[in-house]
Amino acid sequence: MPYLPENPPVFLADHPVLDLLNTVFIPEATAVDALQSDADVLYWLEEAGMAPSQTPALPRGALVQAAHELRSIIRALVERRKAGKRLDLGPLNTILRNAASYPQLAGAGASLRLERHRPAQAAEDVLAPVAEAAAEFLATADFDLVRPCEGKDCILWFYDRTKSHRRRWCSMQVCGNRHKVEAFRERQRA
Ligand SMILES: [Zn+2]
Repeated sequence: MPYLPENPPVFLADHPVLDLLNTVFIPEATAVDALQSDADVLYWLEEAGMAPSQTPALPRGALVQAAHELRSIIRALVERRKAGKRLDLGPLNTILRNAASYPQLAGAGASLRLERHRPAQAAEDVLAPVAEAAAEFLATADFDLVRPCEGKDCILWFYDRTKSHRRRWCSMQVCGNRHKVEAFRERQRA
């Protein structure tokens, strides 16, 4: 049977880096973490399209610990970048520097292609594509469009790639709907 995490992660941010931050979410009153084990992290990487071609043998818990660390580094950078505060680039740069990868040619003739080879040895190597995506995101994303959901008590982020750039909610079904119901009640009271 395919592995299913206890708290399946949501993918609604329209960007994997923000989806990673959203692995901590508040379905009802208390926050839950979709990344509680190494298997959860591998599941997330697979769903995010960043699964490693092979997973090295790692001490139990090493991958989830590294994922939590990377996530909190990225969260601090995204929040501070959004708030226009000074960024501490050191921790992410260290991870990037240690992530070994190199291009390799594969295939033949018309199907010749360039692949990035990642000799994964440590947990950080497995997470290197995420670290690189985060660095790219921080450097190139339009942060006017990087926004937290307006829902009360909602902690989810999204990248507003809608045409009108008027996205307000993590999801219409959850926070959007809740807002609609509240606005309706407000009108009833008035
Ligand atoms: Zn929300």
